[in-house]
Amino acid sequence: MKLTPIEKKINNNLKPGRISSDGFLGDDKRRYSDIINCDRNELEKLQINAKKIADRLQEFTDAAFESYDSSIIIEDKYEVEYKTVRGKIICPFAHSGMYRKGSISFKNLENGIKISWTPLNIHMIREHGFFEGFGSKHRLDPLTIKKGLW
Ligand SMILES: [Zn+2]
Repeated sequence: MKLTPIEKKINNNLKPGRISSDGFLGDDKRRYSDIINCDRNELEKLQINAKKIADRLQEFTDAAFESYDSSIIIEDKYEVEYKTVRGKIICPFAHSGMYRKGSISFKNLENGIKISWTPLNIHMIREHGFFEGFGSKHRLDPLTIKKGLW
């Protein structure tokens, strides 16, 4: 199927060196819409939804943001650190709005699961259901998220 102009634009934005030097697709050769559909099915199987994940990621992000670049322990179980990076980034989905750069490192101290994400990840999960391609630096795997964040 042929891509529409807007789909072409999004596809290009997701490639390395456009909006982010690493891009958002990793070594994933699938179309972004296929990546989104595949993760949506995965979420259904796991009985969780993108909004719930985004809310949880935001909750940890807000708590860590207050900690001024040192790690904090939340609910006696999660270690979270917000690393500030100067600047803002736009959403690759040809969408208005700017997102803080920065990255959040997270560790579930009970099961050892480590996850890292950016404020843009939260937006892309919430609004676009996009968890990034396989092999992408900030790919968030739904199963790992489900096991780690709760
Ligand atoms: Zn967006």
